[in-house]
Amino acid sequence: MSAVLQSQLLPTYPPPSVTFVDGDGVWLTDDSGRRYLDFAAGIAVVGLGHRHPAPLAAAHAQLDRLWHTSNLYATEPARALAHVLSERFGGAQAFFCNSGAEANEAAIKYARKATGKHGVIALEQSFHGRTTGALAVTGQPAKRAAFEPLLDGVRFVPPNDVEALRAAMSDDVGLVLLEPVLGEGGVIPLTPEFLAAARELDAILAFDEVQTGIGRTGSFFAFEQLGVRPDLVTLAKGLANGLPIGCLLVSDAAAGAFAPGDHGSTFGGNPVACAAAVAVCGAVDDALLARVRTNGARLLAGLAPLPHVVDARGAGLLVGAELDRPAQEVVDAALDAGLVCLTSGANVLRLAPPLVVADDDVDRALAILTEVLTA
Ligand code: PLP
Repeated sequence: MSAVLQSQLLPTYPPPSVTFVDGDGVWLTDDSGRRYLDFAAGIAVVGLGHRHPAPLAAAHAQLDRLWHTSNLYATEPARALAHVLSERFGGAQAFFCNSGAEANEAAIKYARKATGKHGVIALEQSFHGRTTGALAVTGQPAKRAAFEPLLDGVRFVPPNDVEALRAAMSDDVGLVLLEPVLGEGGVIPLTPEFLAAARELDAILAFDEVQTGIGRTGSFFAFEQLGVRPDLVTLAKGLANGLPIGCLLVSDAAAGAFAPGDHGSTFGGNPVACAAAVAVCGAVDDALLARVRTNGARLLAGLAPLPHVVDARGAGLLVGAELDRPAQEVVDAALDAGLVCLTSGANVLRLAPPLVVADDDVDRALAILTEVLTA
């Protein structure tokens, strides 16, 4: 994009150095025709790869039928998606919105209504979104500082610190909100022990699976591998392979708090996004999930011995390499070398390729990173 056009966008992001015009599977093409291997997937969104035929065909078919009705009327795609997600969860009701932050707003409101309590326990370094409610429960002071005061009653505890978690509990806490793997805060997987301790607290337990959900960690929901079932789950990123959508799932056991008028969203449950999401859910099958686990392990093993890598960790294809230098420098150098990747906090390089990535794509990415980190 030219500098003039770029200046007409509010500068909430650093000026981008590349304009992508085309996507195909795990590849992106820029406006000069150069191809890049995409290990960012639109920030852990395009799980099936760019232009995957299943959501593409479903969205096209729905575009030709009906785009929007509002939630005052039923649509087939929203009903179908709620059914698919309920089956995957094992009994849940869905509220559809348009983003991860909105899904977390819905979770915060749901827990307040269900418990009559406003206190929240969340994690240091967590990320739950940029709207004021989601920001209030985000454990990154630098992101909150300019916008305070936000919601009060939020306590932050260090990830995986069971004692701190128990100590933070009090009578006014109605919600414990956790990312099974902290995706923006350094790719930190939570331990089953920590999650089990959270489950024991007398509060609604919500998992923010906006980044970890829809197969990213090698199971449809990350919690399936962790031995703890939450009351609420929030979803967004990978759900419609890049069309905007968010979702709050409420387990059948925790159902009943919202009544008509308590919450809403004009665009929530958009038929085109929901039709794409139904197709995505169908494509995230056992074979793909097994592949995510295998290729995630391959990526992790390949990263660990690279120069400047202090620690390599993650789950499935949400992988972080903690570096002894600023991660943005490495992300910039990798982009110059034809590999798109991400940071997660200051020193962690984050890799979140499409779930359909092949083992030779993983090896190609590792070869580029080896070159970049050895230079
Ligand atoms: N929750 C988690 C775990 C996220 O990773 C993100 C985005 O990165 C969000 C919430 C916010 O999602 P959105 O940007 O769609 O509002």
